[in-house]
Amino acid sequence: MILDGKETSKVLRERLKETIKNLDAKIKLLVILVGDDPASSIYVASKEKASKSVGIKPITWYLDKNVTQKELINKIHEANNDPSINGILVQLPLPKHLEESVIINEIDPLKDVDGLTYINQGKLFNNQKTIIPATPLGVMKLLEEYKMDITSKNALVIGRSNLVSKPLAMLLLGKNATVTVAHSKTKNLKEIAKTMDIIISCVGKPKFVTADMIKEDAIVIDVGINRVLGKVIGDVDFDNVSLIADAITPVPGGVGPMTIAALLENVVECYKLQNVKEK
Ligand code: NAP
Repeated sequence: MILDGKETSKVLRERLKETIKNLDAKIKLLVILVGDDPASSIYVASKEKASKSVGIKPITWYLDKNVTQKELINKIHEANNDPSINGILVQLPLPKHLEESVIINEIDPLKDVDGLTYINQGKLFNNQKTIIPATPLGVMKLLEEYKMDITSKNALVIGRSNLVSKPLAMLLLGKNATVTVAHSKTKNLKEIAKTMDIIISCVGKPKFVTADMIKEDAIVIDVGINRVLGKVIGDVDFDNVSLIADAITPVPGGVGPMTIAALLENVVECYKLQNVKEK
């Protein structure tokens, strides 16, 4: 079975459009883009387009690549203090002279649509309601929409980044999976993978996950994005793995669109945290 992120994300976006209409709210997402990296500019443009499609107003602040850390932090404070801005996203990566973790943690956690502030990461770690980074959230939503059973399953996350893999491991744990996290120093990855019910690859290497790593009823989620000869491909050798796995995400059309849908949901979640009192 193909886990179709493109179609599923459309469903989520339609639902979100309805939610925004019912809230009768003006919801604004600010993206801060430092410098003129072409890939980042493409990502920002696609976030703007997706925001508009569900009724979120996107704005982008373009800052010079030589902006100082102090100037950037001042801009973040300005956005924190502006009640008309509901979500703040600093497009990563930042130029080398800027310390990402310092800058990200200046974002008001209630406006942190990427879920990367220490406050929001700590809440996730403590099973509290929080803003969850969009890619892991998108993966979990895809599994949920396809009613994939996670409880008691052996799940392997390949990668240990703060942005994707660690939050994913926490979320899987929260759904009662038995979770293994692998990384570049892991030994016998093939043998470990072969025993797994769920494999999520977040490595960034083409054809990293091969058919001989998969057991027959496995669910394989490909988070990787790799550009090869002008084409975008994932980490998984899709043609061969899809012959064995029970369910698999394609690239493109798998986790990518789910990430965008989850990001939009996060903007609305931030709006609610700021405006809607829990009963
Ligand atoms: P990252 O920070 O570069 O992390 C890559 C991870 O892969 C690291 O933890 C690394 O281990 C591990 N790794 C590298 N070689 C390995 C090996 N031989 N065996 C086992 N593990 C190995 O990347 P990221 O930010 O997590 O992103 C991962 C991938 O997802 C990238 O391709 C990125 O483009 C993609 N991505 C996709 C989306 C989407 O929307 N689809 C969103 C975000 C990211 P060490 O820690 O030991 O170095």
